[in-house]
Amino acid sequence: MATIFLKPGKDKPVRQRHPWIFSGAIARVEGAPAAGEAVAVRASDGRWLAWAEYNPRSQIRARAFCWDAQVEVDEAFWRERLAASIARRDALMPGAEARRLVFAESDGMPGLIVDQYGQHLVVQFLTAGAEARKRMVVQHLVQLLSPASIIERDDPMRRKEGLPPSEGVWYGQPPAEPLTIIENGLKFLVDLRAGQKTGFYLDQAANRAALAPHCAGKEVLNAFSYTGAFAVYALAAGADHVINLDTSRDALALADANLRLNGFSPDRWQRIEADVFRQLRVWRDEGRQFDLIILDPPKFATSRGNLPRATRGYKDINWLAMRLLRPGGLLATFSCSGLVSQDLFQKILFGAALDAGRDARIVGHFRQAPDHPVLLTFPEAAYLKGFLLQLA
Ligand code: SAH
Repeated sequence: MATIFLKPGKDKPVRQRHPWIFSGAIARVEGAPAAGEAVAVRASDGRWLAWAEYNPRSQIRARAFCWDAQVEVDEAFWRERLAASIARRDALMPGAEARRLVFAESDGMPGLIVDQYGQHLVVQFLTAGAEARKRMVVQHLVQLLSPASIIERDDPMRRKEGLPPSEGVWYGQPPAEPLTIIENGLKFLVDLRAGQKTGFYLDQAANRAALAPHCAGKEVLNAFSYTGAFAVYALAAGADHVINLDTSRDALALADANLRLNGFSPDRWQRIEADVFRQLRVWRDEGRQFDLIILDPPKFATSRGNLPRATRGYKDINWLAMRLLRPGGLLATFSCSGLVSQDLFQKILFGAALDAGRDARIVGHFRQAPDHPVLLTFPEAAYLKGFLLQLA
């Protein structure tokens, strides 16, 4: 068993059960661990700290997952971790058709994502450790859940870990057509093999439900709509009209299909395939107005280096959206950039409101859904935040 020794004074976060060990904290590595291999982590004086998975190609050189020296990290250990995570979801959201069963570090399994869509599972292996355990994880999932299929989807995060792209069907027969799932009584088509992420933004489920009561009688703009999930909730809750706005033609086609599937009359919605930054300006120039605008952009801040640019991007779309809202209008605005804290996001919105010349009040907060939990020892897992603003 290889061992990594930390530099003096660098052991406190690990002792406090934070999972990430950066390359700069490591004094030396004893043995020659392969990427993804489990290693022992010890303080500079040799004191036991944790088990971690090692990755020489990542800035996060090791990810701790167990703090008990006595435990044997074998197949049974990982099977137990998987079973425990599934049991937590069963307790939290029994009977939900679509839910995240494993959320990586937050569930004690760094880099592993398991999303359930009915009988089908979509998995991602985002770190060298998760990659190394791929076959075993698939086998255990088959035993624990008897799924109809297990599909792997790629993610850009694999590149930061020095992993090649990887996708495939690792078990069973995936659905040939987009699958229909039910979320809070509404129907959604999910393309498990070609959709974004694992097919559907499960992290927004609770926020879609929370926004619904504010939609009745409103003219709604759903910007960065993807497959129109917010629009389906809005129309079901009595919105007059919704526009889905996105650059992805495939996502918009599925959005139309979702609206038809839920039985809404076609005169209640419209799709616009366009860039949000540009389209909001077009509408500003035309004097177009809305009662409720939803802004759910992709992750703008992908690294510390582009944080200033990301900040400008968030400010730009929010400033424009505020300009397009009628007096008393509502803005539901989100950021899924982990690097943009709730505090920073609020400051960006403050700047946007000043520039728009609009008074706005925070009347609600949004968070990622409970099947994307945040370990208290690992606050970095809290990536999705949002505000509901009421314009004066
Ligand atoms: N709100 C959605 C998820 C949004 S994901 C839901 O609840 O399901 C972000 C979406 O933004 C993606 O569909 C992507 O195609 C779209 N997108 C990214 N950049 C864009 C841009 N500049 N203009 C319009 N859409 C964009």
